[in-house]
Amino acid sequence: MIQYVDLHTHSTASDGTLTPTQLVNSAAGAGLVGLALTDHDSGNGLLEAQAQAAKAGIRFVPGIEISAEYPHPGTMHILGFYIDPVSPALKRMSDILLEGRDNRNPRIIARLNELGCNITLQQARDIARRGSQDGRAIVLGRPHIAQAMVEAGCVSSVKQAFDVYLGTTGAAYFDKERLTPRQALDCIHQAGGLAVLAHPVQLRIANPAELQNVISNLVDAGLDGIEVWHSDHRPQDSQLFLELARRYNLVTTGGSDFHGTPKPDIALGLGRNNVRVPVEYLDRLEQAWISRRTKQTAEAPA
Ligand code: AMP
Ligand code: ZN
Ligand code: FE
Ligand code: FE
Repeated sequence: MIQYVDLHTHSTASDGTLTPTQLVNSAAGAGLVGLALTDHDSGNGLLEAQAQAAKAGIRFVPGIEISAEYPHPGTMHILGFYIDPVSPALKRMSDILLEGRDNRNPRIIARLNELGCNITLQQARDIARRGSQDGRAIVLGRPHIAQAMVEAGCVSSVKQAFDVYLGTTGAAYFDKERLTPRQALDCIHQAGGLAVLAHPVQLRIANPAELQNVISNLVDAGLDGIEVWHSDHRPQDSQLFLELARRYNLVTTGGSDFHGTPKPDIALGLGRNNVRVPVEYLDRLEQAWISRRTKQTAEAPA
């Protein structure tokens, strides 16, 4: 019997709706044998998920997902796998990323108010905090603002909130400061992890030669892998990413990008296209991480 894993998920530590414990239990309940938690900008859910995974008897990969600078309309997200949940490097990185959000979010709210949608930052913050653990920094994102807009009756759905206001072409869109791709890769490596380009379709590069060029530059900056299987990928996309991974000797990963209720069409372990990721992907990821660590230790000055 083939066993499956999910290597891209979000919890209440960012903009997912299941707590880390609930997420792990759902994964175990769905029959998955491994799970990576990859919350945006924060490792706050990792220790809880790790402890629960040990209880539930499934393999766990502590991860993160961060956005890097990239020209619109595309987005570049980098996944970090096997980051050390208690490393100072993770804390430093997370602080920088959360500051970028703190600078952006009030501008979104102010613009929404100007446009006649009277929500407050506190309302969005309360939504972000629901189910999130006490006293921890919260990752306040556009999905939380969208939910506040729905609850205030400004829009009828989260989708409408993004389409009209919060998406890159929306009336209340503001960018947040991001790390450069190289900084993002460096931060992940400093926190002990492997850096993997998430859902490359979201780069929105139609031309394969151009895509290869972007990936080649990331490889030069230290990229370790490519997320090949993802809810947004069509079969031909995954095929292309597999070929690129082979060409650059990159590890390949896959996951659903499960968020819970904000993305109701994405199921844990299955994604949107019923694509399942065999456990061999987790085995190879783990191997790649062990090799990198071994190499680093060997190269470290005595
Ligand atoms: P932020 O990190 O605050 O910029 O928000 C990014 C989050 O918003 C990610 O989880 C995205 O999946 C989500 N998101 C972006 N665009 C949309 C959209 N059109 N509909 C629903 N969610 C979206
Ligand atoms: Zn998200
Ligand atoms: Fe992403
Ligand atoms: Fe994600």
